[in-house]
Amino acid sequence: MPIVRLDEATVRRIAAGEVVERPASVVKELVENALDAGARAIRVEIAAGGRELIRVQDDGCGMLPEELPLAVERHTTSKLRDFADLARLTTYGFRGEALAAISAVSDFEIASRPPASGHGARLRVRFGKPGRVEPVGMSVGTIVTVRDLFATVPARRRFLRQDATETAYIQRVLAALALARPDVRVEFVVDGRTALATPGSGRLVDALAGVYGAETAASIVSLEPIESGEIAVHGAIGLPAVARANRQSLFLLVNGRWIESRTLVAAIEQAYHTLLMVGRYPIGVVAVSLPPDRVDVNVHPTKREVRFADERAVAAAVHEAVRRTLLSHLPAQPPPAVTFSPLEPPVIQRRLLVADPSRVPPPPPVISPAAPAPGEAPSSAPPAEGRLPILRVLGQVRQSYIIAEGPDGMYLIDQHAAHERVLLERLRRDQRAGDRVQYLLEPQVVELSAAQATALQGHLPDLAALGFVAEEFGPRTLLLRAIPAALKPTTIARVLQETCEALAQDAPPADWREAICLLLACKTAVKAGQLLSLEEMRALLEQLDEAELGHTCAHGRPTAVLLTHGQLEREFGRR
Ligand code: ADP
Ligand code: MG
Repeated sequence: MPIVRLDEATVRRIAAGEVVERPASVVKELVENALDAGARAIRVEIAAGGRELIRVQDDGCGMLPEELPLAVERHTTSKLRDFADLARLTTYGFRGEALAAISAVSDFEIASRPPASGHGARLRVRFGKPGRVEPVGMSVGTIVTVRDLFATVPARRRFLRQDATETAYIQRVLAALALARPDVRVEFVVDGRTALATPGSGRLVDALAGVYGAETAASIVSLEPIESGEIAVHGAIGLPAVARANRQSLFLLVNGRWIESRTLVAAIEQAYHTLLMVGRYPIGVVAVSLPPDRVDVNVHPTKREVRFADERAVAAAVHEAVRRTLLSHLPAQPPPAVTFSPLEPPVIQRRLLVADPSRVPPPPPVISPAAPAPGEAPSSAPPAEGRLPILRVLGQVRQSYIIAEGPDGMYLIDQHAAHERVLLERLRRDQRAGDRVQYLLEPQVVELSAAQATALQGHLPDLAALGFVAEEFGPRTLLLRAIPAALKPTTIARVLQETCEALAQDAPPADWREAICLLLACKTAVKAGQLLSLEEMRALLEQLDEAELGHTCAHGRPTAVLLTHGQLEREFGRR
């Protein structure tokens, strides 16, 4: 086969394939030209996904009539004279082939008027064949009209997707532009309807509202700015609530240019870690600035991908900025409640039976019998919420929490706190009833230290009122014949010793009996870390249901937390 020189039209068509992949790439080239021309306002109009019509109008510097034929020739550019210029590039376009390529595969027209001219000029190029330059009345700037894109390249045309998909690609190009340049007014009209409009105020918030809509933009927060070495990161990202079902609403800018980078997207998604459900993706704009010699923008024909000198460092800075921002904007973890990850909004509603939740004190490490803490709601306090409903026990978590199902959701019950509450209620009630005592088969001997005995001195009548039948058996020995019905005989000697020990360490309590009740309840209750059988757990929950203040332990801490059906559904993305 003899070697032949390809005719100019063929060369252009082949080149066009590299630059002009689809309508969105045409739009990208045209708006970048408009920006290079110093436009302050850019209006883009399309019909049928860009196949029928793409029109880009700007108010930039325009061109003289005699420049129009040059602009549509290959390798003609006003932006680059030699290779050395490439390194210093600040404009978007530089290859001088976009207009040539687009006009080779469409019914193309460019009309332009520089500010100094009284009127404009236009040049039509039909599928690579230029016509004559003609005068035209128009405002200052440039209008490029592209009709019937790829009409002469059936292979390319077949490769295009549905109109809606091509439109979405174009919209993404314009969203990126609008976010990269909040100082430029951007309008996008699809089949006669405005799909995107930013005011060009120069403020990112306004651009965000124009791109995402005001409601979504309200959940987009400024990035905590990061500067690490030569790399700076700024921008704005959406809180997890406004995540989307695809990755098309997140934009990356490097030195003001929109780029694609799997690595940086991964770094951002990583920063959201557990905050997003599977299949949800962050939105927003993350802008990286670094010295131009640390990034190569000339690796892809349409300049969408870049090569970083130190990609890891860039990714780390981006990750850090996003992570910090999320941490500072998400609600803090509530103190003792259960959450599933340190960053998630509190998923579990705490059930606190205290009239004023702000009065709940931090739980004391050792129970002080001196006086009830403010949170230790006296039994006369009105319950703030209803009783626990009937619960079906499912199991035990960490041998500390009973997991149960109720009519309104899933409950986690602190076994120690719950049991303590049950015992306290019983001790108080039995004391009023006066007759709820259990006689021991054999009297028990309780040996006390000197300090313990002193603490107990003079309080045998109080012990009796609580249901203890005891005699002094020696100077420091008690003989127990009966104990309150709520307590367990097997451990009572030790519990009484410990109770006296606690009393000995503190100033005498104002309400001695109440203090003893609190201590006994705490020391007798099942401990955290104690394995319980299903039967024991059921019995405990039944007793808890009888307790007057079933929802808080003796120290005002919650005994139960509820994860409602609604919360479960939200956590698993069913709503
Ligand atoms: P490049 O942008 O790489 O220079 P293009 O083929 O996109 O190549 O454009 C060729 C030339 O046409 C540009 O260098 C510029 O001088 C001129 N031009 C294109 N579009 C515009 C516009 N909207 N306003 C003013 N001049 C333009
Ligand atoms: Mg260009």
